Amino acid sequence: MKYCRFNEDRLGLIQGDEILDITAALDVLPPQQWPYPQGDLLITHLDKVLDRALTLTATAIRLPLQQVRLKSPVANPSKIINAPINYRAHTEEAKDPAIAHGRDLDNKTPADWGLFLKANSSLIGCGEEIVLRCPERRNDHELELVVVIGKPCNQVGRADAMRYVAGYMIGLDMTVRGPELPSFRKSADTYTVCGPWLTTTDEVEDPGKLDLFLQVNGETRQSANTRSLVFGIAQLIEYASSMYTLLPGDLIFTGTPAGVGPVRPGDAITASIQQLGQFTLSVSRQYSLAATSIQSA
Ligand code: MN
Repeated sequence: MKYCRFNEDRLGLIQGDEILDITAALDVLPPQQWPYPQGDLLITHLDKVLDRALTLTATAIRLPLQQVRLKSPVANPSKIINAPINYRAHTEEAKDPAIAHGRDLDNKTPADWGLFLKANSSLIGCGEEIVLRCPERRNDHELELVVVIGKPCNQVGRADAMRYVAGYMIGLDMTVRGPELPSFRKSADTYTVCGPWLTTTDEVEDPGKLDLFLQVNGETRQSANTRSLVFGIAQLIEYASSMYTLLPGDLIFTGTPAGVGPVRPGDAITASIQQLGQFTLSVSRQYSLAATSIQSA
């Protein structure tokens, strides 16, 4: 199934170019008391919610996809986990001093860098706008396959890892280039985009064989296939869960292929991954007002 979050936090099922409003299915979620458990409540109970949703489809209001504003399908991940340099061809281009900023990238894999986390407050959906910071710095797009964790797991081996996946999304890991830690440069508000909807695992035959591409203003910048991942999805789950417990709704950004490049105010970014859909979102015509406060070292 494919579900989305749209407009004022409505829940929708995707059918062709229509959305079925199945917000009433959220009634099956248990009431919450402080302190709220970590992890995304909807993803924790996703099977139950989607089962209820199927009972609502016959009478659900239908809306054209083009008329709604899509938000991130996962609202409250406990972690946004990111693989650094995880495609060989991107390792080569990242040696460019404008990207490397003094880091030694020779023969490095995620095993050398570990994984990094982005601020949850950076997360938006494809119906929102990216607002750039740091006008004097390079602000890059990074197209990535995003894995959504469905069940808690800790120290899971790669043979079992795929059992813990709820689904997949298209992701943009927006990046201010510079010498600072990635968790800082990539965590600005709006610098993490997920969408257009979440596709559950049963609809994705092999997430390790998906074409992905990205265009800026109609010009192709990134074009690759997830079979070129250095650490595949199961290995990333094994690696991440070797260090911390993964919770329902945690997002794993699997790394970007070659072709990263700058975007500017007013640009339109189109991102597509086979079987997961496609979206186009805008880069705001204005920089964030706080933009000049962060100087490059
Ligand atoms: Mn990235």
